[in-house]
Amino acid sequence: MAKRIQISQHGAPEVMQLVSFEPADPAPGEVQVENKAIGINYIDTYVRSGLYPASLPSGLGTEAAGIVTRVGPGVDALKPGDRVVYAQSSLGAYSEVHNVAVEKVALLPDAISFEQAAASFLKGLTVHYLLRQTYVVQPDEVFLFHAAAGGVGLIACQWAKALGAHLIGTVGSAEKATLAKNAGAWATINYREEDIAARVSELTHGKKLRVVYDSVGKDTWEASLDCLQRRGLMVSFGNSSGPVTGINLGILNQKGSLYVTRPSLNGYITTREALIQASNELFSLIASGAINVDVPQAQKFALADAQHAHQVLEGRGTQGSSLLIP
Ligand code: NDP
Repeated sequence: MAKRIQISQHGAPEVMQLVSFEPADPAPGEVQVENKAIGINYIDTYVRSGLYPASLPSGLGTEAAGIVTRVGPGVDALKPGDRVVYAQSSLGAYSEVHNVAVEKVALLPDAISFEQAAASFLKGLTVHYLLRQTYVVQPDEVFLFHAAAGGVGLIACQWAKALGAHLIGTVGSAEKATLAKNAGAWATINYREEDIAARVSELTHGKKLRVVYDSVGKDTWEASLDCLQRRGLMVSFGNSSGPVTGINLGILNQKGSLYVTRPSLNGYITTREALIQASNELFSLIASGAINVDVPQAQKFALADAQHAHQVLEGRGTQGSSLLIP
């Protein structure tokens, strides 16, 4: 028997329960991974709350790092004993053991610890496609990235610096502003106190921006559009404050013939080759020290404390990534 977090109904963090279960045999094309560190992602709160669909009862979580213990029929890319990390698995990574399709799994270089991997894989692959594919950020380019002191955000600050680009990061406190600056943000805006578009205009001497990355959603949608130049690109990739709904497309005309995209990692990492290519870039930036993903001790939660971990994340009390340790 093994332990995992399960939900039988959607709702507040209290719906997450630690239960015992008998892990199934890995199916064809799957490996069984003994998780050593589990990545907590904001998307897990959408699945728990019911914003994103799941058939119940359900496990939770899609990212972890650990050791392959068994391989299913037809698997030759991985073997028992391999150190691996995975993201975008079927729901159920909040668990001591999880069966995962091989195309979601990458081998871990010796230089990367399980905790570093679980803290950075899904979030780092996200930053990779956002800055390298959705819009190709150029050296010296100034752009806006919301929630810059969050898990995805702190990686984006460091990746932008490695690219020689100038990231303006929004943050919810002075402490988070310092953190984002230290990670490489060129400037920060405390969006609880400052007018985002006015400050962006000031920082760019009225030129504004060609691209804005917005994971906050409802609360920042309109301000984000106001930060864009004519024909600029709005990348809306999350809902931390609630989803953006009921938009009249005419607003894109009024604000300057703007473009909008609503991307997700699933739309970019579609093969194991794409996964390996993007992970190699991410791992080499971590191994070289250009991207630091060390998790503060207070944000390493026991698997049994998943409820508390979600309360802190949704209460905007975290900085960078958080982990569950089985
Ligand atoms: P974060 O660590 O960034 O946590 C969310 C942060 O959002 C908070 O810390 C907070 O920072 C900010 N925030 C702003 N308004 C609110 C609000 N009303 N309630 C709660 N938080 C708020 O989470 P992740 O790094 O896991 O994910 C960041 C975002 O990226 C999420 O929206 C997630 O869904 C999205 N995402 C999208 C992907 C995709 O491919 N589309 C893939 C991965 C993540 P502050 O206090 O500074 O405001």
